[in-house]
Amino acid sequence: MQQKLSLKLLPSEAADESAVKKLIANNTGKKLHSVSGYHILKQSIDARAKTIWVNLTLNAFIDEPFHQREIQSFNFKDVSKAEKRVVIIGAGPAGLFAALLLIAQGVKPIILERGKDVRSRRRDLATLNKEGIINPESNYCFGEGGAGTYSDGKLYTRSNKRGDIDRILNLFVKFGADEKILYQSHPHIGTNKLPHIITAMRQQITDCGGEFLFEKKVVDFIVENDKIRSVKTADGNSFDADSFILATGHSARDIFELLHQKQILIEAKGFALGVRIEHPQQLIDSIQYHCPARGEYLAPASYSLVKQVNDRGVFSFCMCPGGIIAPAATSAGELVVNGWSPSKRNNPYANSGMVVQVELEDVMLKSKIKSQNDPLVMMRFQQMVEQQCFTAGGGKFVAPAQRMADFSKGITSSSLPECSYQPGLNPVSLKEVLPGFVYQALAKGFIEFGKKMPGYFTNDAVVVATESRTSSPVRIPRNYDTLAHPQIKNLYPCGEGAGYAGGIVSAAMDGERVASQLATILA
Ligand SMILES: Cc1cc2nc3c(=O)[nH]c(=O)nc-3n(C[C@H](O)[C@H](O)[C@H](O)COP(=O)(O)OP(=O)(O)OC[C@H]3O[C@@H](n4cnc5c(N)ncnc54)[C@H](O)[C@@H]3O)c2cc1C
Repeated sequence: MQQKLSLKLLPSEAADESAVKKLIANNTGKKLHSVSGYHILKQSIDARAKTIWVNLTLNAFIDEPFHQREIQSFNFKDVSKAEKRVVIIGAGPAGLFAALLLIAQGVKPIILERGKDVRSRRRDLATLNKEGIINPESNYCFGEGGAGTYSDGKLYTRSNKRGDIDRILNLFVKFGADEKILYQSHPHIGTNKLPHIITAMRQQITDCGGEFLFEKKVVDFIVENDKIRSVKTADGNSFDADSFILATGHSARDIFELLHQKQILIEAKGFALGVRIEHPQQLIDSIQYHCPARGEYLAPASYSLVKQVNDRGVFSFCMCPGGIIAPAATSAGELVVNGWSPSKRNNPYANSGMVVQVELEDVMLKSKIKSQNDPLVMMRFQQMVEQQCFTAGGGKFVAPAQRMADFSKGITSSSLPECSYQPGLNPVSLKEVLPGFVYQALAKGFIEFGKKMPGYFTNDAVVVATESRTSSPVRIPRNYDTLAHPQIKNLYPCGEGAGYAGGIVSAAMDGERVASQLATILA
C-alpha cells in the first residue's frame, strides 16, 4: 500500500534516507523492512525557533515494491509541414514555453531572437564583467532563454494556478532540471544548469520542425487592415505568419518605441525601483538559523522582507543566497543590477533586490519628467535613473554604492566592503543619485528591516544602485477573452514585457496561456 504522511525531522535526519524510512515505520506502526521507499511531495524548512525543522509530506511505499516517481509526459508533434505558423518574437521563458505548447498542439512556431545562443552569449557576459563593454544585443537580458538564463533560476510565483505551475516544473525536469524542484517550497535551478536546459528546449523545438533563428532583431511591423502581415528584422529579412506572439521582455525599449511610433496602443504602468543589497552569507545564515555557523545539512539561508514606509511598500525581491550581483543593463551609459546564484549557492555573499513601487503620480509630481500623455513616461523615468547611476559610478559599469548604515544616515562611505559585483564599485552618496522618494523609503525601510531581523541593518552590507528592471514600465494591452491586442487582431502580447508576468514561472505560464488560446483559434 501507499500512504501519505507528514513528518517533522531534524535537517540531518531529512538528509538520511534510512532515518526517514525509520520514521515512516514508527509513524505507521510497521516494521522497517516493510518500508520499501518514498516520494517526497512537499519539503519546507521551519527556522522560526532555535531548533530548525524540516517538514516533509511524503508518499510512503509500505509492503509493496517501490517505483520511481513518474514525471508528467508530453506529446510534441512533428510540425515541419504544419499549415498554421506563428511567429514568436523573443526566446525568453514566455516565448519558449509558448513554442513548446504550440508544437504540442500541431502549430509551427518560428522564433525570432535578437540575441545569440546561450554559449556565444556567455562570452559577451564575460566581456561585460571584465572589460565593462556591453553588447546591446547580447547581455544578461537579451539572448537565448531571455533574462532568466543567467539567473538564480528561482521557480516560485505568486500565482496559485497549481496545475499550470506543476506543468511548467515538469517541463523543466523533462529538459534536465533536478526532480527536487517538484517538491521544494522554494525551488531554484542555478546559473550553471539553466543554459543546458534552455539548449535542450531549443533542440526539442527544432527536432519537431519548429524554427529557431538567432540574431534576428525585429525592427518593424508591417500592418494591413488591423493585422500584422509581416515583421522585418534588422538584417533586412521579413517573416509572415498567421499570428504573432510578442514576448520581448521588459528591456526591449526599442519595441515599446516602435509600437508607440506605429500608433499601436500601449500604456504607462507602475514599476519597482531600488537597489541591490549584499551581506556576507554567513551573517544571513547566523541571523536566520540562530547560530554562528550554518552546518552541513542546511542550505544557505534566504530572507523575504516587506514593510510599509511613508505609505509606500518597501520589499525585498529576487533574493540570491550564495549569489553574485550582475550588471544587467542592455545599453551603454545605463547602470542596472540584478542577481544570480549557481545551483549550490556556494558563493560567500547573499544579495537581494530591495525596491519600492513607483506609480505614475510619483513620476509626474516628483520628477523632472512632465509629459502628461506619453505612454513611455515611466520607461523614460526608469532610463533616466539608470543613466544617473551610470554617471555616478564613473563609467565601465562601475556601480555607485554605499554601506547600508551610511546609506540610511546619508553619509558617503569612506571605504566599501568586498563585493561580488565584478565591474567594481564607486563609493558615493546614493541620496544624490536616486529619486528622493525612493531614497527616503529605502533609508527608513532598512532600519525597519534591522528591527525585524536583528543584525541585518549593518555597515557590513553594501547597497548597490540601481535595481530598476524588476517589472515592466509599460503595458501592452490585450483583450480579456481573446488575449489579442485590442487594435491589432493577430498580435498576442505576452510575458513580462507586456505586463502580464513577473518572473520565470509566471512568464512561462503566460506564454502557454497565449499559445493555447492561439492554437484553439487557428484549429
Ligand atoms: C540576472 C537576472 C536574474 C533573474 N533571476 C530570476 C529568478 O531567479 N527567478 C525568476 O523568476 N526571475 C528572475 N529574473 C527575471 C526573469 O528572468 C524574467 O521575469 C523572465 O525572463 C521574463 O520572461 P519573458 O519571456 O517575459 O521575457 P525575457 O526573459 O526578457 O525575454 C525576452 C526575449 O526577447 C528578446 N527580444 C527583445 N527584443 C527583441 C526584438 N526586437 N526582436 C527579437 N527578440 C527580441 C530578448 O533578447 C529576450 O531573449 C531574473 C532576471 C535577471 C536579468
